Amino acid sequence: MYFIANWKMFGGLKSLNSLGKVANFFQNFRRNKNLKIIYCPPTTLINSMSKKLKKSKIEVGAQNCHESEVYGAHTGSINPRMLKDAGASYVIIGHSENRQRGEKNKLINQKIKTAIKSGLKIIFCIGETLSEKRKKKTKKILDEQIRYGLNKIQNKNKIIIAYEPIWSIGSGLIPKPEDLFKTIDFIKKKAKNYKVLYGGSVNPKNILKLRDIKNIDGYLIGGASQDPKKFIDIIKKTYN
Ligand code: PEP
Repeated sequence: MYFIANWKMFGGLKSLNSLGKVANFFQNFRRNKNLKIIYCPPTTLINSMSKKLKKSKIEVGAQNCHESEVYGAHTGSINPRMLKDAGASYVIIGHSENRQRGEKNKLINQKIKTAIKSGLKIIFCIGETLSEKRKKKTKKILDEQIRYGLNKIQNKNKIIIAYEPIWSIGSGLIPKPEDLFKTIDFIKKKAKNYKVLYGGSVNPKNILKLRDIKNIDGYLIGGASQDPKKFIDIIKKTYN
C-alpha cells in the first residue's frame, strides 16, 4: 500500500521537524507489511527533506515539473532532472489544481515522458469535476485522461495512478464506497497493470470506510498529511 503525502503550497524548514516521528513509526511498523511512504513537499523543501529522510525508507517526490528534459530559458520552472538532482524520486503530474490552471492532457503526457526519461517515477492524477459527475460523464473524462495522458508510454512500472475526484479534494466528501470500487475497477480495466490510489479528503475517520474497498492500492493524502499524527493514524488504521 502506498501512502503519499501531498503538502501542496504549505510548509517551511520548520515543518521538517515533524518528520522524525513518521520515520520512527515507519521503521517499526513496516516489517512484514507492503508499505510505502512518499512525501511530496513544496519544491523548496525537497533537498532538505531528502537529506533528512536519507536513512529511512521514506521517499521524496515533487508536486509538478516542466516538460523539458534540458535546461532552458523558462523563468520560474524546474525540470525533472533538477528535481532528481535535488533528491526527488517521484513527481506528481496532472494534479487537478494544476489542470484547473490550464494543464491539458497533451502537456501532462509530455511531462510524464520527460520525467520518466529523467529517472523519476510518476504519480499521475486523474479525476472528474462535480459538474461532470452530475452529468454522468465520469467514465468519459477518466477514459480521456488515461488515453491521452498515458499515450505511447511503455514504462508502466514507473507510474502510479491516483484517482482524485475534484469535488472530493479538500471538501471533506468522499465517494460512496460502492461507487469508488466501481470507478477504481473501471480505471484498472482501462489502464491494465497499474497501481491505482484514491485521493480526496482522506482522514483518520473515513479511512475506516475506505480501507474496506479492496481494489485500492493506497492513498494520496493532502490536508491530513501535514499533521504527522493524523498521517500515522491513517496508516495504522488501514492495516488494523
Ligand atoms: C490532494 O490535493 O491531492 C488531496 C488529496 O487533498 P486533500 O486530502 O486535502 O483532499
